[in-house]
Amino acid sequence: MPPEQALACGRWVKLICGASNQDLAAIEDLCGLYALAGVHCIDVAADDAVVAAARRGLSWAREQRPQLSTPWLMLSLSDGEDPHFRKAWFDPSRCPPDCPRPCARVCPAEAIPAGAGVSRERCYGCGRCLPACPLGLIEARSHGLDATAVPELLARLRPDAVEIHTSLGRGEAFARRLEQVAASGLPLRRLAVSCGLEAGAGAASPRPGVGPRELASELWQRFALLRRHRFLPLWQLDGRPMSGDVGDGTAHAAVNLLLALRQLAPPGPLQLAGGTNGRSLPLLRQRSGGPQSARRVAAGVAFGGLARRLLAPLVLEAERRGRRLLDEPSLWPQALTLAQQLVSPWLAADG
Ligand code: SF4
Ligand code: SF4
Repeated sequence: MPPEQALACGRWVKLICGASNQDLAAIEDLCGLYALAGVHCIDVAADDAVVAAARRGLSWAREQRPQLSTPWLMLSLSDGEDPHFRKAWFDPSRCPPDCPRPCARVCPAEAIPAGAGVSRERCYGCGRCLPACPLGLIEARSHGLDATAVPELLARLRPDAVEIHTSLGRGEAFARRLEQVAASGLPLRRLAVSCGLEAGAGAASPRPGVGPRELASELWQRFALLRRHRFLPLWQLDGRPMSGDVGDGTAHAAVNLLLALRQLAPPGPLQLAGGTNGRSLPLLRQRSGGPQSARRVAAGVAFGGLARRLLAPLVLEAERRGRRLLDEPSLWPQALTLAQQLVSPWLAADG
């Protein structure tokens, strides 16, 4: 089903590779397999090498199934500090030799190899290692794009869609980022706005006095800016960022946020993200009154942490064999089945 049609009927599924993720081999494998599983959009870092890897994965998927409706390629930007745009860092020479390495144990990306610091390629900024170090050696380092780099970068990479991660009180920064996106001259299919970290039950970083009304008011401001530039919106409601692999309970935050905003948000599709997993759709159906109403209130879902975690053992096994997963016929069908199990309930024509 083409992406716009999927948004219109509540069956949209997006793969989030991670705004900070630069693990090119894994990104190529993930993009190929989730495209073949039927996702409508692949969201990656705004980085030349990452986009090239994603496109190689998409080419592989088209080779497997030439009639495949190619997913949109979406690039993620931010208008300020944001947990999705950071990487962990520490100096391994300061670690005691007998440290049992709790940092490595909690890392879902195997980004902290023995005897070394954090792998810049693999770290996607989830933050789980930060409190794990008993000596407090790990810090988060933010990264973002210079204003002057954005138009040229986008014009070069030619994504189908762009997402801007924003936060309350950053209306002016958002407007500036949007100007830079518009200056690229790209005819974008959608301009996604990712938001919600501070608002709503289950929010990752709740701010006192900030709830769905305050968030909706800021979304209306963003909506006016999008209209001025003739961009079509897509509202990504980020319940509990980068946590869908932690457990079923993480699904609640995004569903709560979406249901709280459904009557308040500006026009445009509302999409779940942040903490999403296999529990998200049943929960949405239960809370919204059934399958039909779930399709009406939510345009769809984005899967990130869990989507990557499910395939990680097979990606790593292929890596051990010195090949990409997509080139291992003894492994990739198994990976495809796992990807399909995650996304197919959203794609199914069941109401
Ligand atoms: S736990 Fe998260 S933030 Fe820390 S190194 Fe791993 S991916 Fe990066
Ligand atoms: S937990 Fe801290 S001290 Fe131990 S290996 Fe990790 S960063 Fe080093």
